[in-house]
Amino acid sequence: MTDGPTEAATKAPDDLVIRGAHVLDPASGLDGVTDVLLSSGHIAEVGENLRGTRHLDADGLHLFPGFVDVHAHWRTPGREDEETIETGSAAAAAGGFTSVVMMPNTDPIVDRPVVVSGLVRRVERESRVRAYVSAALHEGLKGERLTEMRLLKEAGAFCVSDDGLGTQSAGVLRNGMLYAKTAGLPVILHCEDHTLATGVVHDGVAAALAGVPGSPGSAEDVATATALVLAAETGAKVHITHVSTALSAALVGFFKGRGDITADTTPHHLTLTDELVGMLEGMYRVNPPLRPDGDRLEVGKALKGGILDFVATDHAPHASEEKELPLEEAAPGFLGHETAFPALYTELVKSGKLPLSRLVEAMACAPGRWVASGAYGIFAGAPADLALVDLSEEWTVRTGALASRSSNSPYLGRRLGGRVVGTMVGGELVYDGMGAKFGART
Ligand SMILES: [Zn+2]
Ligand SMILES: [Zn+2]
Repeated sequence: MTDGPTEAATKAPDDLVIRGAHVLDPASGLDGVTDVLLSSGHIAEVGENLRGTRHLDADGLHLFPGFVDVHAHWRTPGREDEETIETGSAAAAAGGFTSVVMMPNTDPIVDRPVVVSGLVRRVERESRVRAYVSAALHEGLKGERLTEMRLLKEAGAFCVSDDGLGTQSAGVLRNGMLYAKTAGLPVILHCEDHTLATGVVHDGVAAALAGVPGSPGSAEDVATATALVLAAETGAKVHITHVSTALSAALVGFFKGRGDITADTTPHHLTLTDELVGMLEGMYRVNPPLRPDGDRLEVGKALKGGILDFVATDHAPHASEEKELPLEEAAPGFLGHETAFPALYTELVKSGKLPLSRLVEAMACAPGRWVASGAYGIFAGAPADLALVDLSEEWTVRTGALASRSSNSPYLGRRLGGRVVGTMVGGELVYDGMGAKFGART
């Protein structure tokens, strides 16, 4: 068996130069046109006039570190009619996301090691992007008995979360943080007090005009304050997700530096307001609810200033029969992966309210560091997780053009600027919006 070609001779060279893109990575201080050489799934070199076996002509495009979404519902296991790992990860890739954290409020709930290990195996087979499994903070997400976090971690859990419902008992939450800390698991918290959150939209002028029962902002603020106090006391690694009110953002600011605390807000809370509930369509129900413009503006300022560390989408697919209902009956949640960057680029960056570099920091660098627990970005030795974006292109959000299995986007029909045209994970093109350009040889 020695007369065949050697392995070295048959192995196709795997290097690739992305040529001529405007490379923007605030963490690495890159902001200009340069070449990026990829090899063996990693970034080998960043610089001028690089040579490789293959090249990708990216003139006129922007190259960012791949976006990282710490909050997504891929509805697997249990509701694969709404999303699967395949379609959820395809939607993520189409949105420029290269890493995603999957929330545990599935059916069954991800509260046992066997469910975690099953999901990890499915991710390896079915996901186009890096996907991390969040296990539940408590059994059945009932807020009573904590899960066996050490065993969940051994089975492959990346973090624990109470997303969907929140934790109503401060005592359970405190013990959960202490256990998570000893197990070495970050905690992602959905802050909502159910004794206050009795409505379906934000309790304000828009709800009154629409005649729909509202929940006050305090439903979020009271729970956020509790979580922050306990995070500061326990020292657990705590991430507050989907901050949507001015007061909750200010509370996060107060507690920054008093613990291992980070927070995110969502594209929809940064770009939409509760005026949409006047349309009385179930589409616009989401939890936490869309807030008045004053909250939206303060949350935007907190993101710009870094009090809110990053953006997470809370990608929440729902079957049309669960959304095409009156507000009171509709399931809460929006799709998020595919519209996140374009919506924020259009509403905040193009209007001059947020620098593009801060948006890239908030969608890629900061959540990337949180997930990697270390450096993340475009530098020699880093995994080649990248998003190529055409900022000059405009597109209209349409059901048929979305990779998600569901279509509950609050931006349907909206024209957005900025389009992801290519996404790479470990140097592999997992979304190709450019057609035949890729793979051209030098
Ligand atoms: Zn939530
Ligand atoms: Zn969620």
